[in-house]
Amino acid sequence: MGTKTKQTMKNTTPAIEDTITKSKKRTRKVSEPKPQPALPVGDIEDFQFREDEVKEISTSLLKWYDVNRRDLPWRRINDSDDTDRDRKAYAVWVSEIMLQQTRVQTVINYFNRWMEKWPTVEHLAQASIEEVNEIWAGLGYYRRARFLLEGAKSIVEEGGQFPRSLNDLRKVRGIGEYTAGAIASIAFNEAVPVVDGNVIRVIARLRTISANPKDKTTVKNIWRLAGQLVDLSRPGDFNQALMELGATLCTPLNPNCSSCPISTQCNALLESKQNPSMVVTDYPAKVAKVKQRRDFSAISVVEIMEGEEGSGSKFLLVKRPEEGLLAGLWEFPSVLLNGDEADLVVRREAIDDFLKNSFGLKLNVIEREEVGEYVHIFTHIRLKMYIEHLVLRSQDLCRKKGKEEMFYKYVDMKTLGSMGLTTGVRKAYDMVQKFKQSRSSLLKDSL
Ligand code: SF4
Repeated sequence: MGTKTKQTMKNTTPAIEDTITKSKKRTRKVSEPKPQPALPVGDIEDFQFREDEVKEISTSLLKWYDVNRRDLPWRRINDSDDTDRDRKAYAVWVSEIMLQQTRVQTVINYFNRWMEKWPTVEHLAQASIEEVNEIWAGLGYYRRARFLLEGAKSIVEEGGQFPRSLNDLRKVRGIGEYTAGAIASIAFNEAVPVVDGNVIRVIARLRTISANPKDKTTVKNIWRLAGQLVDLSRPGDFNQALMELGATLCTPLNPNCSSCPISTQCNALLESKQNPSMVVTDYPAKVAKVKQRRDFSAISVVEIMEGEEGSGSKFLLVKRPEEGLLAGLWEFPSVLLNGDEADLVVRREAIDDFLKNSFGLKLNVIEREEVGEYVHIFTHIRLKMYIEHLVLRSQDLCRKKGKEEMFYKYVDMKTLGSMGLTTGVRKAYDMVQKFKQSRSSLLKDSL
């Protein structure tokens, strides 16, 4: 299976045939990967697992998982009664959303802090978005944290019991097919598949699927293949085992095939043994990366001096719009520069215009210094930020009425330290503090 013959494809078009024929001409070094067409839906049958293969894969993988599973906090919750199952579903939900952001080791701390603060879905439903952002700070994709909160609220409004099936879970805002599959199978034992990047890689190798793994049709077909494999008696464990195999042994660049519990079922491994020009990492196909957009912005850490020698100084924070990048999060005043790097004069003009036009802020400048640059990488954007420290005399802000309502607040240093700020905002603040410290030590040295 998965090693197609020409006979089985005689009715396909040449383009389709190219897609599903094993790539005999491919070599180890592919300098410029080109997107591959999708695995055609009509031919999914040719990649399906036989019954004996399903049994063999399931038995071997679960045996391996029972011995090698990582001890993770969300796996320790038992599910002996309905209340426990609700707690487990909640824990799986939170952990899975966090795991979409970053590595397991990083997630453990975030998860523990989250569960300490909100041990059940009812607790979470009472939280504010500020509190949620605070615990989430540093994980990125804040929209997901917001969906967790909104999802918790909707579950509590519906009576507080966690939806128990894939279909009902899908109705909760922010719970997509992947998360619903994970919760349904792990917490409620429903025999449904879960497909993440790890599973796509493992299945592409097991079945030597060379179609573009990012293509919707390919992904859909891999969901179907994963659905074939799911163990009916232990679906949750099986799904976790498949993902864990991808995360620990069947890794993107250095798969450890000699330790793999399902190596006898792996067509990519078989192929690499038969054909020295092939390697298992030829699967899944390499896909050309989407080119990152390059943005530039000017950030002004505005400090308003109050009291003797600024003892009560406060910082100005502005709330981002409710839609788009970093929606609804607080940040220092910032202006996206016009598509290119801009010199100091242009940056200051842009910031001045923003402060005057948005808040009627009078620029009674006590001090203004450039403190440095910082590059933050989002999925599709490389954002270079120019950071300045702008100290102004105490004054009231008055929000100007415009097309878009803009929220702002003054916060003192202590509040700022405890707020859930994005990595970029935290970095800008740290740079200003470091700048101030190094300047005061220079001053001391010169006395
Ligand atoms: S044999 Fe190697 S390539 Fe195949 S599934 Fe196992 S680790 Fe992955």
